[in-house]
Amino acid sequence: MRVPMIAGNWKMNTTISEAVELVSEMRRGLDEISGVEKVVCPPFISLAAVKELIKGSSIRLGAQNLYFEEKGAYTGEISPLMVADLCEFVIIGHSERRQYFNETGETVNRKLRAALKVGLKPILCIGERLEEREAGRTEEVVTQQLWSSLAGIDSLGDLIIAYEPVWAIGTGKAATGKQVNETVGLISLSIAQLYDKVVAQNMRILYGGSVTADNIAEFMPQPEIDGALVGGASLKADEFLSIVRQTSEIKGRLSR
Ligand code: PEP
Repeated sequence: MRVPMIAGNWKMNTTISEAVELVSEMRRGLDEISGVEKVVCPPFISLAAVKELIKGSSIRLGAQNLYFEEKGAYTGEISPLMVADLCEFVIIGHSERRQYFNETGETVNRKLRAALKVGLKPILCIGERLEEREAGRTEEVVTQQLWSSLAGIDSLGDLIIAYEPVWAIGTGKAATGKQVNETVGLISLSIAQLYDKVVAQNMRILYGGSVTADNIAEFMPQPEIDGALVGGASLKADEFLSIVRQTSEIKGRLSR
């Protein structure tokens, strides 16, 4: 059984005090919900403060990025070991990093290897752009991203994949449950081909792209979708709680 996951990507939002306030607002409510793994990914500077606050709670911590080198003269970067000191999860290959910071398949691959080496659980983001979808190239693009990200990696550890169509991120234009279920099914098939059936069966694949409390119920009944990576809506405590609660109820019903 794959445990559903809802991860909040706070992106470049919240000062340390705002992050502390946000997680304090969520903590009790999230602890009352079972059957869902709940992850928050604040900016680097807030990780230590948030980690302190969530001690003893069911909330898990993730970072939004890392650099692949272990240490050294890389001013401004954060190493895998530094992240692993504080976090269990790390988002890798988010489309905003591919778009604004020129991350390529090769960079993503190096980051993934580095994260797995220190025992982090990477949340690997892949997804097609609008023109690629309109040209009927979704499957090809997503498969290619998967191959380049995973090249030469024999063991995937606790890797999680987030299928995030770029046209749906931060745009308010979410995909449909059926569209996502189809693509997630293809991703799972690719994993089975690259590794084996058991690896594919155990791998959690999330959806990300304008998920809100109003549309989460569109996605969670779909059998291939194991949860969501939530951006904007994870910055509102009530809304994030509602997304996690609905996921718990819907997935709970399906597993009975
Ligand atoms: C994201 O940041 O991964 C994301 C899906 O953002 P949003 O929910 O705001 O579209």
